[in-house]
Amino acid sequence: SAPISRFLPDEAATLALGGSWAASLAAPLVVYLHGDLGAGKTTFTRGLLRGLGHNGAVKSPTYALVESYPLAAFTLHHFDLYRFSSPEEWQDAGLDDLFGRSVCLIEWPQLGGEFVPAADITVQLENAEAGRMCTLTAHTPQGQKSLEAWLN
Ligand code: ADP
Ligand code: MG
Repeated sequence: SAPISRFLPDEAATLALGGSWAASLAAPLVVYLHGDLGAGKTTFTRGLLRGLGHNGAVKSPTYALVESYPLAAFTLHHFDLYRFSSPEEWQDAGLDDLFGRSVCLIEWPQLGGEFVPAADITVQLENAEAGRMCTLTAHTPQGQKSLEAWLN
């Protein structure tokens, strides 16, 4: 289906867009977060987690590889593969075990190569004017359903 774009003028807008997904988000779902360093991938995830009722910190998982948040309806896993030196690290870290009944958001998924489960939705963040352009694309029927419930 056609990608959907939203202009995000400031950090608050990125947090709000992430937060607005919380009410309709359902597991299982795999989301790739694309964009340069500092594009807002972790900020978007922080907004989503706040919307889901997580009141604690949302740290960038750059060193830990994954931060997991057990929530009422499902566990959300937030991955960051930025420090991978080869895709095989995905297997070494046993990350496959975290998929199946969870919502998984993955920064730098391309560094995990073919080991990373396919995306239902991609979220692309790019610099635009002073803010960011966010483009959302569904790749599966499940992803399409989620985007429709969220944005319509
Ligand atoms: P990433 O995880 O993509 O590396 P972060 O979310 O850690 O990026 O950092 C994004 C940076 O950009 C933060 O400093 C945040 O305040 C800022 N930011 C987020 N969204 C916007 C926006 N829409 N416009 C301007 N700055 C933003
Ligand atoms: Mg990040």
